[in-house]
Amino acid sequence: MGAEISRRQFLGTAAAGGFAAASGAIRAGQEPPAAPAPPPRPRCIVDSHVHLKHGDAARTEYTADEIVHVMDKVGIAKSVVFAMSTTTQRSIDMAEKAVSKFPDRLIPYVYALPHYERPAIKEIQAALSGRLFRGVKIHAGECTLAEYVIDPVLALAGRYRAPCLVDCKGDHAAARRMAKAFPGTTLIIAHMGRYLATDGRLLDQFIGLAAECDNVLLDVSGVVLVEKIPEAVRTIGAKRLVWGTDGPHPKPDTVAFARTELDKVRQLDLGEDDKDNLLGRTILELLRLQ
Ligand SMILES: [Zn+2]
Repeated sequence: MGAEISRRQFLGTAAAGGFAAASGAIRAGQEPPAAPAPPPRPRCIVDSHVHLKHGDAARTEYTADEIVHVMDKVGIAKSVVFAMSTTTQRSIDMAEKAVSKFPDRLIPYVYALPHYERPAIKEIQAALSGRLFRGVKIHAGECTLAEYVIDPVLALAGRYRAPCLVDCKGDHAAARRMAKAFPGTTLIIAHMGRYLATDGRLLDQFIGLAAECDNVLLDVSGVVLVEKIPEAVRTIGAKRLVWGTDGPHPKPDTVAFARTELDKVRQLDLGEDDKDNLLGRTILELLRLQ
């Protein structure tokens, strides 16, 4: 025991000596050097809107490797991934395959699309009950938001506390109906209402909807009226906004596209705490991942 204590004392003395040598001798009466500033807080950037398969004319698909390559280049820790322009079951298969390769980087959503032959609602339920899938993607371009089609999905998502990322193509009335009919279901309205909208009044309507309904969040991907983002932060708070790229996108290239979308938010006149929320914390808390 005595020998052990001696060894500890020796190590302690050696460490102190090393510190003094490294920091310079401190003479009596002299102010010790100021402690170095703490390193900047690492921001956990999460892209909440990434397509394994897009809704563009070519129905473009991207592999998990291609998506993670972009994330690594741009500094994105995690991405929400999903497929559209395909069946619910294939969206499940594609997301499972991608996430099995990068389980710590990719977070899957299931795509909700009715099918004449397949029980899509059961497939969605199976996905959500397995706990791998954290949310549901809905797109008004492929699936009507009429109550007789979409309401069972919204009810199911609410039961599993799975948010629905809804592209409602600017249909404010449909979004409001869904939000009011299912207050226990979180709706993330893609593109703050409509992809690449240039009508500020339309975005104001969706900011107003989020102000009116606590279960509505806004996704800022594909928002070209960038000044509407800080306006929304001031109105509803950054805890109700999520950043996403809506990528991958090949122009000018997939990495430059994602970096531009990230810079779009980084350059906003917002506090660091608001940017933390917008760029990752809000979606991680919503998905119960932190
Ligand atoms: Zn999208």
